[in-house]
Amino acid sequence: MQQLTKPLAVFRTHLTACHDCDLLFQIPHLQKGEQAHCPRCGALVMERKGHSLDYSLALALTSLILFVIANVNTLLRMNVGGRTQSENIISGVNELYVQGYWEIAALVFIVSILAPLLKILCVFYVLTPLKFNARLPYAKQVFRFYESLSPWAMTEVYMLGILVALVKLADLATINVGIALYSFAALIPFMAATDASLDDHEIWERLEPSD
Ligand SMILES: [Zn+2]
Repeated sequence: MQQLTKPLAVFRTHLTACHDCDLLFQIPHLQKGEQAHCPRCGALVMERKGHSLDYSLALALTSLILFVIANVNTLLRMNVGGRTQSENIISGVNELYVQGYWEIAALVFIVSILAPLLKILCVFYVLTPLKFNARLPYAKQVFRFYESLSPWAMTEVYMLGILVALVKLADLATINVGIALYSFAALIPFMAATDASLDDHEIWERLEPSD
């Protein structure tokens, strides 16, 4: 990472507040890989990521493939007293609904299926056209929605729930882990990497001028 050393006047600038000390100062237009630090306390205020949109799109595509594998295949196969039962993610949600826990069923559906899928699709919707210097209708709203979805996509919490269930059931039943569980486990770091790779500042900058 290269720290900014060029004089501010050569850049297009805009005002930003330091999140640590509240100092309001002019921040220059950063190039890829550059960082801007607060002139008073030295906090990192803005950073332009070094990689391209392709990098984020490749991570999003991998996440989508893992998501599909995780949702169409068997998560766990349980054998209790000679009776074998296969479970996948959606059948778990359905089971909760059938037992009357519709609020929990809805919550599990949102945090483990709907929100992760919407996040991945939002990345494609916003980034694919940007790659060709275009923009689809409502791209800004979609990207704002993507940012608001983050607290709802809790794949790691769902994964933790499965692992706790596995440990508790291990004494009662013979359990075989399906390919969906491995895909779901792999989906967590890939979704986090997609999030981390997105350069919000660059994306907003490229979405804004056309308005
Ligand atoms: Zn500061």
